[in-house]
Amino acid sequence: MESGKVAASPCEFERAPGMEILRVCSYHRHDFDLAVARTNSRDHDQVRSSLLRSINATSSGLGHLQILPLEIVYEICFLLDIQSLLNLRHVNRRAHQIVRTTRGYEATITHAFEALCVILKTKIASWFTLSDLFKVLCTRDCHFCGSFGGFIFLLSFTRCCFSCIREDSLPSLLPSSVVKNRFNSSPRGLYSLVPTIRSLPGIYSMDEIVRKKRTQIMPAEFISRLSLREANERARVAQSKEKALLRYMVTTALPYLDIKSGDVQNGICCSGCQIALERALRSSRVQSNACALRDKVYSYEEFMEHFWECREAQNLWMLSNQGVDVANVSEFVRRGGWFKKRDVIMSFDSK
Ligand SMILES: [Zn+2]
Ligand SMILES: [Zn+2]
Repeated sequence: MESGKVAASPCEFERAPGMEILRVCSYHRHDFDLAVARTNSRDHDQVRSSLLRSINATSSGLGHLQILPLEIVYEICFLLDIQSLLNLRHVNRRAHQIVRTTRGYEATITHAFEALCVILKTKIASWFTLSDLFKVLCTRDCHFCGSFGGFIFLLSFTRCCFSCIREDSLPSLLPSSVVKNRFNSSPRGLYSLVPTIRSLPGIYSMDEIVRKKRTQIMPAEFISRLSLREANERARVAQSKEKALLRYMVTTALPYLDIKSGDVQNGICCSGCQIALERALRSSRVQSNACALRDKVYSYEEFMEHFWECREAQNLWMLSNQGVDVANVSEFVRRGGWFKKRDVIMSFDSK
């Protein structure tokens, strides 16, 4: 046994409450969340409370919609795109009340508000419904690889994970600057045919690259369907550094809502695996999968399975006096990942 390790019998862990083990031995990777599209949601606190405000609206009507049975009006709201639904709220107090009580509205605004801010600001809101967003909110695993997915791919409202963003496992993307020269119509015509993201100024990827200019990004597969001769252009983009950045611009963090239990999960990493990596780096004996294990994101249930296999996490639990003492974890764990330029933003955000 390595020095500093404490042997623990399985029966000692069986008595340990799962949430306490999660608190002591896992952490959330904030650096992943900050590598993708984001807004400072604290700027929108008033919007959040306005969206969730209940209104008593006995005196207002719905105009021509008033002749329809209420369940049909609700069904229309359910099928409206996000932008139109939020516009409908502004018609009058009755419309506000109907939208507020549409199925899935409250849970989506409550738990997916940060993602919704990005959806509205990137101008993709008119392509999808609130129920599309609610469905992704309630989906746990990455559509592309099956791991826990703490993100949404905004061009198709699909659940994805950070590893698929980083490793280029998302559908191919093209910036409109490449496409519009090939398109006979105006770029505006193109944007009405293909879901398009207008990227946000920000700091993207784990290399923390600053992009101040906004750019239009669309899925390459749609462009192929429009019979554009873009194969050469696509190859050119594929070779560019900009291509990697596009993936971060069309994704944003989205928690998972377990509809049965009401639990909300953002995904957690193992503190023990980070400590193991730091120890291996000091002795220059790093296993080939050590970084991948450190970056692996788990659901609560998956983490507990990992805990039983991870000696370093078990050791951390024992050293914390089974959750009573605050364990002396690494700086990386305490900060929720690795930051350079983003330190400025994080300290700004926390004010
Ligand atoms: Zn994935
Ligand atoms: Zn571990």
